[in-house]
Amino acid sequence: MTAPTILFAAKPERWATYEPHLRLALSAAGVSDANLTLQADPAEVDYIVYAPNSAVQDFTPYTRLKAVLNLWAGVEDVTDNATLKVPLARMVDEGLTEGMVEWCVGHALRHHLGMDAHIHGQDGVWRNGDVPPLARHRGVTVLGLGALGEAVATALAGLGFAVAGWSRSAKDIEGVQTFNGVDGLFRALSSAQIVILLLPDTPATENILNADTLAQLPKGAMIINPGRGPLIDDDALLAALDTGHIAHATLDVFRTEPLPQDHPYWAHPNVTVTPHIASETRPKTASQVIAENIWRGETGAPFLHLVDRTLGY
Ligand code: NDP
Repeated sequence: MTAPTILFAAKPERWATYEPHLRLALSAAGVSDANLTLQADPAEVDYIVYAPNSAVQDFTPYTRLKAVLNLWAGVEDVTDNATLKVPLARMVDEGLTEGMVEWCVGHALRHHLGMDAHIHGQDGVWRNGDVPPLARHRGVTVLGLGALGEAVATALAGLGFAVAGWSRSAKDIEGVQTFNGVDGLFRALSSAQIVILLLPDTPATENILNADTLAQLPKGAMIINPGRGPLIDDDALLAALDTGHIAHATLDVFRTEPLPQDHPYWAHPNVTVTPHIASETRPKTASQVIAENIWRGETGAPFLHLVDRTLGY
């Protein structure tokens, strides 16, 4: 096979981190002669390693392109690009998944154990009335049971939580009560004291947590959103926080990022803002995924982790 040209079209400042890992991974995958580059004649590029805010927005000049390989799990920035005519693969990276499991379990345990009351309320008064319940008595619902959601749901079930999950298609996941479809969403929410959003940002998932669906939750439920900002109707969530129907929201992602300084979430006493750090693609393990897909492209094997662009994820 002729050596493929691979354009690294994520932000150039990531090049120094990714280049050595990509070269090693390409070599290990048997594509060591690949021309991995930050700049190339578009007509000679076979693969684009892509990330949001890439300089490449018009794929038309890339006449030899075989696939676009997204470095991120979310593809909402590129899936609608009408100039993209070749397969688009998203990132499924074991390092990214591990990080997401840790972040979600950490925040779920914080709420489950009521840690805030002790961290913020240390005032010399001995209050020992509220021993946290066991995990098995706490309902956690994970919306989205893909690469990340399934791993998070399984980890929480392993700790004993009463875990439910919801996805577009029906699933069978050990230790997790699974639901799908619109009726399934209401049923999955009805027992959720903690809701974790790990859905992609698509037209079908926008505002999935809105006044109606928030109302399905038991009073005092807590929201954890490491998915995407548009999954939540912000006004509806703020209203539910103000009435106390929702006790707390831990939000990692927002419609506008960085979250504007005057956004009500920053100052709300029952909102925790984290700056889109729940997890990220890890260069070493992600490079192996990219290299595997390039090897597949070169040998005629089917690409892994292809995006269904009609569904948007
Ligand atoms: P996947 O594509 O593997 O999984 C998506 C899940 O959402 C699937 O279970 C899918 O259902 C479900 N889903 C999609 N549309 C609907 C719908 N309309 N109704 C019900 N369920 C639906 O994605 P990942 O798990 O890899 O990633 C999830 C999201 O996490 C990413 O899109 C990204 O937005 C976010 N993310 C956030 C990060 C952060 O640091 N904050 C880091 C990485 C990712 P089905 O299984 O039936 O297809």
